[in-house]
Amino acid sequence: MLMRLVSSFRWTARCSARNPTHTNHIDFAINSKSVEKLRDGVFQMTCVFCKQLVEESRIEHILPESLGGSDWACMSNGLVCATCNQYFGSKVESKALSSYPFLPFRLLLGIPTKHKKAPFMKAAIGTLRSSHLPGYLGLDPLSDSVEQGIFNNKITQVRIIAEPVEPLAVCRLLLKMGLELLAYNSDEAHLPRYDAARKFARSPHPNSRWWFLIACDFVSLFLRFKNGVSPSEWESGISLSIEDVGEGNVFHLKLLEMSLFVPLEQQIDAATNLRDFAPEWQVYEVVAGRSPGHPQQ
Ligand SMILES: [Zn+2]
Repeated sequence: MLMRLVSSFRWTARCSARNPTHTNHIDFAINSKSVEKLRDGVFQMTCVFCKQLVEESRIEHILPESLGGSDWACMSNGLVCATCNQYFGSKVESKALSSYPFLPFRLLLGIPTKHKKAPFMKAAIGTLRSSHLPGYLGLDPLSDSVEQGIFNNKITQVRIIAEPVEPLAVCRLLLKMGLELLAYNSDEAHLPRYDAARKFARSPHPNSRWWFLIACDFVSLFLRFKNGVSPSEWESGISLSIEDVGEGNVFHLKLLEMSLFVPLEQQIDAATNLRDFAPEWQVYEVVAGRSPGHPQQ
């Protein structure tokens, strides 16, 4: 028998979304798929997204590398096929990770892309860049007059819009991460109850709908950035979990003081299940456009 050990992972015990403090830790897991699907020496797997039986796959990061997902965030081979992996990378992740809410984290923490490119963000007065100094951001002023305005104390703030501009991509990336985490923890991800989530993540029908929720303590988060966040604080400030809210399972991604939730089952209603997040939270309804990846506005 061949057993593949996968890297360590924080994992939150199933619990009510209202009481997400009960946390278990698992040091490593053995992926049963990599035990069962070895046939004639060829490793075969059923992709969690397209359900095709294919041979082998690449290592997949549940938490994208551009969010700091290094070895600890890797799933074993054998859960996502190369085609789906490539599709998500080019059509979903790139859009989601270069926009709110993910881009400010990457910018403030200086996390480069997997191709080692430094993150940047356009703002009204110029381009913001990581400074790699705690509490500082780089700025390329838009013009000489902006630069003068800064030196003359006429321009004293730069504003980052705290609203998703690519809500569809953000929603689909959250679904992808949630389904991968389910697949990583158990065989459950292949069940029909997750087909709608699979579909919306991989190839949503035009006009089909989903939702996600962002809850954030912006004051505490800002203080963190102001004081600087070390790589180890960032790693320990991230958690990925599946939470049972009664009507079904929800994926919860926690990034320091921000929590993102996406239902993994279609029947879960935002209004009745997730409504007590202090101090600030917002539900985003997402509608798929004619061409997947482009929100219909
Ligand atoms: Zn696939």
